[in-house]
Amino acid sequence: MFELPAKAIAVRDEVEAFFNARVLPNNKVWLQQAHAGQSTPEIEQTLRAEARELGLWNMALPRLSENEPGTKLSNLEFAAVAEVLGRLEWASRVFNCHAPDVPNMELLQLFATQQQTEQWLNPLLEGEFGSAFAMTEPGVASSDPVNLETTIVRDGDEYVINGRKWFASNASHANTELIILVGVTDAKEKKSKRQSMILIPRHAAGVEVVRNLPVFEHQSVTNLHPELTFTDVRVPVENLLGQPGEGFAMGQARLGPARLHHCMRAIGECEVLISLMLKRSTERTTFGKRVDEYSSTQEAISLSRIEIDQCRLLVMQAAHLIDTVGNKVARKQISMIKVAVARVYQQIADRAVQLYGAKGVTDDTPAARAFAKARAFRIYDGPDEVHLQTIARLEAGEQSLDNLQHYLYE
Ligand SMILES: Cc1cc2nc3c(=O)[nH]c(=O)nc-3n(C[C@H](O)[C@H](O)[C@H](O)COP(=O)(O)OP(=O)(O)OC[C@H]3O[C@@H](n4cnc5c(N)ncnc54)[C@H](O)[C@@H]3O)c2cc1C
Repeated sequence: MFELPAKAIAVRDEVEAFFNARVLPNNKVWLQQAHAGQSTPEIEQTLRAEARELGLWNMALPRLSENEPGTKLSNLEFAAVAEVLGRLEWASRVFNCHAPDVPNMELLQLFATQQQTEQWLNPLLEGEFGSAFAMTEPGVASSDPVNLETTIVRDGDEYVINGRKWFASNASHANTELIILVGVTDAKEKKSKRQSMILIPRHAAGVEVVRNLPVFEHQSVTNLHPELTFTDVRVPVENLLGQPGEGFAMGQARLGPARLHHCMRAIGECEVLISLMLKRSTERTTFGKRVDEYSSTQEAISLSRIEIDQCRLLVMQAAHLIDTVGNKVARKQISMIKVAVARVYQQIADRAVQLYGAKGVTDDTPAARAFAKARAFRIYDGPDEVHLQTIARLEAGEQSLDNLQHYLYE
């Protein structure tokens, strides 16, 4: 096993100390405030100010410059921190390390003009407002972005946007001011050059929230997935992000680290579920035996440990590759972790639900919620099948099939 970089250990320990002292003990307060309808619970705001003061802020942005607030970490360094943040669903927000703001900030760091930086990136870095990313459309199979139909049409000094999006996470949150939308600027161009990204103020005329979508019957006030319509929405031409036709390539740049972060957080949540499984199984007895004495329980816990440690190594490898050779070269490993972690996450959540019995399907433990989130994770940021297709294609491209006849006995 390799050693984590010293900086990763130091920052992770600091984050963990703050998490244990301030975040975890306030979990019930946060839940009460969220259930009372606070879209950003008061306790979250208090903790954000404290984390910011400690410099535990914007840690998921390897391109953070010296004059931007927070602590710059590489992807590998952040991997260790993200595991701690993943233990609670809302913890990443405390440190301004949450999706979709992090991948949106990365996009802006890479492609924003000076004016876009001042208007949108800087306030996001300060945590002054939130953002959303609107790519998926209800009308078309959006795992293939070529299908997207929303249009971005130039009219003089403005672009006019028309279309319907959904699952634009966070777009209907009270704090959100920016929507980064992917749409078609030139339908006649070759497939990879048809789309562009545009920056739309959330409250621009013509942007309507149709509804917030429940996920497995769960409707959150803090984590919203709305359906939106864009009807003759007008923004200045300066709001185009990057060059016309570069939307597809920019989307790839955004998704690598975003997937990595989701995987890292999921591993942290799985660790909590393993601990809870252990605790629960030592506390209950059936047919004269403690539940942890059954081989089925031992198998559930052991397999979870094996799978999660495998996943962690895979994720660290992908993080290291993104840091050293970049997103594009690491795309096979990014797809690999996306599939592996989402499946293991779902399996471990399923085992935790089972071990908790009836309580496992209620909201009294994190297991049911984890199960629903893990199931959704097998779809968002690319469904399993699309990643498996990518892995198979890249694997085939890398392999030399010469000389294999010597292994055969025919
Ligand atoms: C909780 C959640 C949050 C999300 N957040 C966002 C967000 O912030 N912004 C955003 O734009 N979108 C978001 N999404 C949408 C998500 O990215 C899309 O759902 C995903 O890309 C799949 O697109 P689709 O739903 O149109 O499914 P489709 O493209 O219609 O695919 C449906 C199914 O078809 C099958 N399939 C597709 N392609 C293949 C293939 N190549 N081989 C074999 N089978 C295939 C798979 O089983 C796949 O699951 C979110 C989704 C969820 C559930």
